[in-house]
Amino acid sequence: MSPERINRDEALSLFKSKATEDQMHVGKLADQVREARHGRRTTFVHNLQLNPSNVCVRDCDFCGFAVLPGQSGGYSLDEESILQTISASEPSEVHIVGGLNQEWGFNRSLQLIARIRTAFPALYIKAFTAVEIDWFAHQSDSTITEVLGRLKAAGLDCLPGGGAEIFSERIRNRLFPRKINANRWLEIHAAAHALNIPSNATLLYGLDETLEERLDHLFRLRELQDQTGGFVSFIPLPLQTEGESKNRITPLDNLTVIAISRLVLDNIPHIKAYWPMLGLSTAAVALSWGADDLDGTLGLEKVAHASGADTPRAMASN
Ligand code: SF4
Repeated sequence: MSPERINRDEALSLFKSKATEDQMHVGKLADQVREARHGRRTTFVHNLQLNPSNVCVRDCDFCGFAVLPGQSGGYSLDEESILQTISASEPSEVHIVGGLNQEWGFNRSLQLIARIRTAFPALYIKAFTAVEIDWFAHQSDSTITEVLGRLKAAGLDCLPGGGAEIFSERIRNRLFPRKINANRWLEIHAAAHALNIPSNATLLYGLDETLEERLDHLFRLRELQDQTGGFVSFIPLPLQTEGESKNRITPLDNLTVIAISRLVLDNIPHIKAYWPMLGLSTAAVALSWGADDLDGTLGLEKVAHASGADTPRAMASN
């Protein structure tokens, strides 16, 4: 491997390592990068995931969380109950994402952020994926910069990384053709960064994508980060499925994705081992394969568990 920045061919060759010894070598390389950046320090936050509604006008193939409008099983929370939940949990951070629901349009979502900011001035508010930002822009006939600017003025601190899935248009067209495309996702994050709103980025893998497609995703993120510097964390997410196919992604596959991410994304500060989707044991090992952050306590995780995650829904905060 070149002592300079890892390129696509080098990353692909590491990704294709088959012998256990070679895979361990990839983990070791990533751990060296992690050690140089963060020492043995691992971060973890007392946070709360809030999902105002699971009703969504899209119908993404892999999503077990959302239901279409009018279908049974839909819910929509009200503002008071959301504020009460935050008050009862006293988190340092909230992570707010939900379905694209007409009842939760831009103005109401904006007001929610403003009310949370007023009630909890010190709380870190991470809210609304690029998919939701795009929806708000269409709904309110605004530009994405206007939507993001108003959310920031209301109290938004950061955008979560969801909705990126995998940038491959081949996979997107097959599994979630009604979702925004990769260019739009990147455009929205670039617009956020231009307004000094930091954001996270994700990769959903296990969708039958090729290793080249996984790497293309990582390199497109690296390219944008070279321009904006606005990504704080990268979070690789293995597909959650119930039944036999669940075994398709092994713990070693997950560790390898974490390690390759650490090596390729040399300009993104943190790599998260998202324990609800990796499992607690794999997440713990990932801290020696390039990851330096374990996300947080979550409160009551719904999205991954609706798709089959069998990890705990929360961690104790004390
Ligand atoms: S992944 Fe997001 S956009 Fe797609 S159906 Fe689920 S909530 Fe809706």
